Amino acid sequence: MLIERFDVEVFTPPCEPGAERYAAKARLTRDIAEVLPYLNATLRGAVYLPAAQALTWKKGGHNIAFHAYEIATSNATDREEAERELRGLIDLVNKTWERRAEITPDHDTHQRPAPMALYKLLPQTNCKQCGEPTCYTFAFKLGASQKSLDDCPVLHEEGYAGKLAQLQSMVIEAPSIGRSE
Ligand code: SF4
Repeated sequence: MLIERFDVEVFTPPCEPGAERYAAKARLTRDIAEVLPYLNATLRGAVYLPAAQALTWKKGGHNIAFHAYEIATSNATDREEAERELRGLIDLVNKTWERRAEITPDHDTHQRPAPMALYKLLPQTNCKQCGEPTCYTFAFKLGASQKSLDDCPVLHEEGYAGKLAQLQSMVIEAPSIGRSE
């Protein structure tokens, strides 16, 4: 197991006083930089910065960062959720490390899709069936992994198959964190 021991800290970020959002970080007792290219290969939408030995990822509205000696997540609604997600990330790192023989590590830096690039492939009807006021708002949240392609029923109608396929290749649709897969 790569991560066996760690200290957990749950806190309210100083930039968001009173926002009632929580962040959590795990301080690690060993260097996990070696797993980052494997995470980069398996977490769609991750941004790997080799020189900084860091990998950032957005999932379900949470900003996540993996560093050599630290893992952090933010934007949880309460302390329990923050800690649960953090432990899910540690589990993800350990499982990825165990599977590394099956994964081709990716050492490149990939950028997240820009909202406008996603918007151009959406139906652009502003029908609000996804719960968002406009397709552009949906595109923004899609890029941040706060929405999924399944939330837009129009995309699954006949005639959008090509655009849906392009969107699927661009967006982050990785497993949810905070629970064992
Ligand atoms: S459901 Fe799809 S088409 Fe309708 S507003 Fe949302 S993104 Fe646009």
